[in-house]
Amino acid sequence: MTRKLLVTSALPYANGSIHLGHLVEYIQTDIWVRFQKMQGHSVHYVCADDTHGTPIMLRAEKEGITPEALIAKVHAEHSQDFAEFLVEFDNYYSTNSEENRVLASDIYKALKANGKIASKTIEQYFDPVKNMFLPDRFIKGECPKCHAKDQYGDNCEVCGATYSPTDLINPFSAVSGATPIRKETEHFFFKLSECSDFLRDWTRSGTLQAEAANKMTEWLGEVGENKLSDWDISRDAPYFGFEIPDAPGKYFYVWLDAPIGYMASFKNLCAKNGLDFDEYWKKDSTTELYHFIGKDILYFHALFWPATLEYSGYRKPTNVFAHGFLTVNGEKMSKSRGTFITARSYLDHIKNPEYLRYYYAAKLNGSMEDIDLNLEDFVARVNSDLVGKYINIASRTAGFINKRFQGKLKMDSHNAVVQELMNAKTLIGNAYEERDFGKALREIMRLADLANGFVAEKAPWVMAKQESSDHELQLVCSQAIEMFRLLTLYLKPVLPKLAYQVEEFLKIPALDFSNVEHALGNDHRIGEYAHLITRIDPKQVEAMTEANKENLQSSVTPVVIASTHQVEETNYISIDDFTKVDLRIAKIVNAEHVEGAEKLLKLTLDIGEEKPRQVFAGIKSAYDPETLKGRLTVMVANLAPRKMKFGLSEGMVLAASDELGGPFILSPDVGALPGMRVK
Ligand SMILES: [Zn+2]
Repeated sequence: MTRKLLVTSALPYANGSIHLGHLVEYIQTDIWVRFQKMQGHSVHYVCADDTHGTPIMLRAEKEGITPEALIAKVHAEHSQDFAEFLVEFDNYYSTNSEENRVLASDIYKALKANGKIASKTIEQYFDPVKNMFLPDRFIKGECPKCHAKDQYGDNCEVCGATYSPTDLINPFSAVSGATPIRKETEHFFFKLSECSDFLRDWTRSGTLQAEAANKMTEWLGEVGENKLSDWDISRDAPYFGFEIPDAPGKYFYVWLDAPIGYMASFKNLCAKNGLDFDEYWKKDSTTELYHFIGKDILYFHALFWPATLEYSGYRKPTNVFAHGFLTVNGEKMSKSRGTFITARSYLDHIKNPEYLRYYYAAKLNGSMEDIDLNLEDFVARVNSDLVGKYINIASRTAGFINKRFQGKLKMDSHNAVVQELMNAKTLIGNAYEERDFGKALREIMRLADLANGFVAEKAPWVMAKQESSDHELQLVCSQAIEMFRLLTLYLKPVLPKLAYQVEEFLKIPALDFSNVEHALGNDHRIGEYAHLITRIDPKQVEAMTEANKENLQSSVTPVVIASTHQVEETNYISIDDFTKVDLRIAKIVNAEHVEGAEKLLKLTLDIGEEKPRQVFAGIKSAYDPETLKGRLTVMVANLAPRKMKFGLSEGMVLAASDELGGPFILSPDVGALPGMRVK
């Protein structure tokens, strides 16, 4: 029976590079998808970049580009990395798409019509300089417990305490350095607290791994209990995302539209391939829907997501498959140890992506356990299994067929080892289906050992020396090549590129599970054997970890603009970095209060351009606008313009401040004129 499957991997966030930790999931999903396709099922594998939220907005601002330009750049990089690791999506899209905007809006409206949306006024930390509400990650301060400085708003990296941002001592905004104020704002909530019964049933219906279902029971509580809180799904401007229908200035929280991105990516694929979107997403759909995720986002996929789908009229996932985290050499990936390895760095040093695919597959068993990439074991296992066992079978026998028999096979005897390899189809197929890739590979390597035993026992290199054994030499080598074909077929979901090269070499059509029993024919001619893979040199791995240590300086760190507080390790910048900032003498031609703004003054600045610039500056507490008119000061002239609640701000004036006072704006010496460059 041909099944119809829609499969997803979690959407990588568009503010950083793909690293070896991410790849566990994409490789796991890709192997499963390739296996299903080799079974002859109809499978669509979709994914997308997760593009919304404050970190993306701030990073784009820091790089001086629009968020759209940032996510386009990252999309190209991610797509390239996935392609080189042979992760073959049927569609790799973006959550910042028209399909996603429409779906997110429609789902929100349906939830609202079903009485599942509430609005509440809440109090949040607000950055008075940046004029924005601050997510927990963007508030820093002193840990209330151990008094370590510079800790994030949600937890202390020194003592491990978790707390709420309002517990921090001397909190400050990690964006501007300003002391945040508490401010009221209206937010929209999804009434998750009303979904406990539905979720209790759904999470226990076999859709989750046992360990995940137990976790859900912890979060949901017992029947009659209600441990779920309503889910805050809105954020205030400025925010990079989708504006909520009929709520100007309010945006969907990134986690509301991210999983809808699975649907949007598929919708986009439907338009390209003429598929029926409703067949896969309507409430009573009989197609299968699978989400592969990391265990850290189980909450979003096993609670928020099915509830969102249920109350907006869509089908729910068939299964959510969670996996564990990656450790390297038994520890968390670490930049100082050189084990925080990007996909690109792996490709630069180890080159062959299938080695990593093989190693991950050998470690994956379908559970939520963490998996360890032990670099020494990685080298040993790839060299021993792939080169020493698998490739060895072809490299010891194909040459004789090529040289002595013009590439022609002789297949006239029944061979017990070949039969055993064919019989393993069900066991290996079931292991792949259950995502127990480790089990599949153990069986495949056991069969490779049998094949090698056969070759060693027959010793074709001895036969080759006696002309009278010619016929037997051809038979033995042909049987070994058939064993090699079967091993390649079983390894194909893990090693698709190598399998393709073997198909070319054997001159056979694409291998899949329906042709396990179709042995190579008598008199079939194979191509010239060329060396297929080489051993990994441990020096390549060493060079990779060394290079990642060296890269520490240039690695991506959270976006932080230091001001009064030392919020980031001091790094020197080059003169080129400095000259990117276009500082100009500006004449304040007008300064005025802004209706409704507590901290801002609106300045009109002449910097020698045809039209003066409008800048909103957080200096109201220190200056009477009247006293500013006519003064000269210094502004950043090439800061990307920002749309603020009160209008467009076309630059920034410089001012000094700390706990002792300020802000104090700068003044140039006598003689400076509007428009002069400061450098
Ligand atoms: Zn602490």
